[in-house]
Amino acid sequence: MSLVIPAPAVTTIPVLGGGEFPVRRVYCVGRNYAAHAREMGHDPNREPPFFFMKPTDAIVPNGFAIPYPPQTSDYQHEIELVVALKSGGANIPASKALDCVFGYAVGLDMTRRDLQNAAKKLQRPWELGKSFEHSGPCAEITPASKFSDPTKGAIWVKVNGTVKQTSDLADMIWNVADTISYLSESIPLGAGDIIFMGTPEGVAPVVKGDKLEGHIDGLTDLKVSIV
Ligand code: MN
Repeated sequence: MSLVIPAPAVTTIPVLGGGEFPVRRVYCVGRNYAAHAREMGHDPNREPPFFFMKPTDAIVPNGFAIPYPPQTSDYQHEIELVVALKSGGANIPASKALDCVFGYAVGLDMTRRDLQNAAKKLQRPWELGKSFEHSGPCAEITPASKFSDPTKGAIWVKVNGTVKQTSDLADMIWNVADTISYLSESIPLGAGDIIFMGTPEGVAPVVKGDKLEGHIDGLTDLKVSIV
């Protein structure tokens, strides 16, 4: 095969203990914590989860200096659990879903909220608000064998040392197993797919110079800055 342009680089996420996880597709769950659904003006009743995607170049590593993106004056943090899959398939039963998980990480779904809100009003797609380079910083992946229960544990993000979002994984409306199972009914999942599991309440804008520290009990903290 002769490529007519150089092949784009594969995005990878470092794994605790060694090696790199190659990223295939990046799914994100919308409104997966009741209090966040409420703060965005929605009824948090247990509606089916919904999904959007980010490009793989959204993923940037721990310690990254994120350039403040263009065309926004409301760039917001969303602290999220990230799930990395080592296998997949279609119609995965929830009881088997965690067998597909390679590991877990702390991530941020960085969002141009003004563009997302404008898209919502016009009933247009969210891509320009959600899906662009550097919008998914992700810390090192902890293998699932060292993080056996993704259904509970503190999750928070600090900006310049002040806690902005704080919750517990137990407050997710759809847990990891249910989410993998539900998504696999629409799209066969596969090795390399990752899922951002949605964010709790307290989303807020960042500005240049801010330093963000994201935490989930049992995982490696994520530290990034806005420049
Ligand atoms: Mn999100």
